[in-house]
Amino acid sequence: MDISIREVAPRDGLQNEEPIPTDSKVRLIDALSETGVGRIEAVSFVHPKAIPQMADADEVWRQARKNPNVRYSALIPNTKGAQRAIAAGFREIEVVVSASDTHNRRNLNRSTSESLDDIAALIPLVHDAGAALEVIVATSFGCPFEGDIDPDRVAGIVARVRTDGADRIAFGDTTGMGTPRRVRDLLSVVRPDLLHFHNTRGTGLANILTALELGVTEFDASVGGIGGCPYAPGASGNVATEEVVHMLHDMGLTTGIDLDRMIETAEMAEKLLGRTLPSGVLRAGPRSRLV
Ligand code: MG
Repeated sequence: MDISIREVAPRDGLQNEEPIPTDSKVRLIDALSETGVGRIEAVSFVHPKAIPQMADADEVWRQARKNPNVRYSALIPNTKGAQRAIAAGFREIEVVVSASDTHNRRNLNRSTSESLDDIAALIPLVHDAGAALEVIVATSFGCPFEGDIDPDRVAGIVARVRTDGADRIAFGDTTGMGTPRRVRDLLSVVRPDLLHFHNTRGTGLANILTALELGVTEFDASVGGIGGCPYAPGASGNVATEEVVHMLHDMGLTTGIDLDRMIETAEMAEKLLGRTLPSGVLRAGPRSRLV
């Protein structure tokens, strides 16, 4: 079975790290583009005052070598961002809304309901450009402010955005509150196209395995586990791509990714970021590498 990994280090990862130079971002995207990964979330088009890490998004994307075998996407917060992404040539665009109203207000300064109205207005603009819009439902497995999130609330958001014309749905475990039980509980009510898990509390791979057993075949991951947790300094965030690939390949599943190349990219990323990254496979190597 083919599992589709979307590599999110250049955007989601770097957005939660100390800013690095444009050239380093381009090197990271280019290295990832040669690992065999099929999809890369490359940049976000956000206001530079809000997210200084992405202030050079246009320049990063201009300089990146675009591998024709890779589908690149961009995250946008609003119509202006969508216009920038479309102008830059992106045809896969992502937008975030939080299942938690409190998290949505902290993150986007508006209620979940207001964000859903914004998304509804955005969809025709994206479609008119021949692009597809993915809606990422953040805090789907729990919210750091509100605690548990009712699966029916997530299902309601999914129903709304599907009716409005969203092309794809992803669920984000924004601060790593998901557990296999919670994955089962939510997915028994509503299915996403893709899952974005965090390993903040060590449940990332267990959650992926659970979702696989329930038939989900698309996952986000970040090389080296780049991208910390915005509410817990020092804590890990995104699941590490090489850990996910290492597990999947040993299960006989295919990803198209060359594991050794991905580990080399994680080593490079550690140098670019100047910090030790939270990845077991990066530290220990794959199980096939004997001592
Ligand atoms: Mg993330």
